[in-house]
Amino acid sequence: MIKINRLDCPPELTDEKKRELTQRFIMEKKSVWATSYIKDTLYKMSKGKCCFCECKLDEEGKYMHVEHFHHKDDYPNEVVEWNNLLPCCIRCNTNKGTHDTIVEPIINVTLTDPRDHLIIDNYRFKSKNNSQLGRKTIDVLYLNDSDQLVKPRFDIANKAKESLELILDKAREFKDGTSNSTRRKNIIINGLKSLLREAHPDSQYSAIVATAVINDIDYVELKDILISLNFWDAELQRIESEVIITSLYT
Ligand SMILES: [Zn+2]
Repeated sequence: MIKINRLDCPPELTDEKKRELTQRFIMEKKSVWATSYIKDTLYKMSKGKCCFCECKLDEEGKYMHVEHFHHKDDYPNEVVEWNNLLPCCIRCNTNKGTHDTIVEPIINVTLTDPRDHLIIDNYRFKSKNNSQLGRKTIDVLYLNDSDQLVKPRFDIANKAKESLELILDKAREFKDGTSNSTRRKNIIINGLKSLLREAHPDSQYSAIVATAVINDIDYVELKDILISLNFWDAELQRIESEVIITSLYT
């Protein structure tokens, strides 16, 4: 889970349109929010990921649901209120169900930075400093679902850690002179760049992968070697900064 910047309301959703759609929802109970301009803007806003669990929404069985943060049955006047709409997966949508977020708040990722309320421990979210908001969010969304979330997070983070080990081996060999061709140098630098992009906020489960990579002892050694070899360039620095912002320290 990462903070998401809300995009501007689609121009098609004018105040008049909102009134018309809200009235239709109240009278006919139709899915008035299911328009391409709402769905496409929400999809773009979260880079094609569920705003809660960060799974990719274009994978099989994970198509996007328009989530009403304040539930549409309890708060029908907000059924197409732009600030009330979020993109999420069927799993999170089902778990949240009819939960009343006004009576028992959970994190709204467009308003609250999850890093203030959550940490990651062994691919699982935990509440930070006993945060009630963090705990409620984990419970309501069932964010530590072993099969559907913890396992895929582990698989992706583990693959990143394996790549990290391979790049570190090559960097050690470069440093001790065993293998220090220009080709090898490019493999090391570009390998690390693509690895860090896996932990970029646009990537799936980015909070988990970023935390796993940035706190890995191999990463610390690899970065030290690259700095000592003068391989640590401006682009690596920029990508690393994005990864650090995405991570939730344990
Ligand atoms: Zn989800």
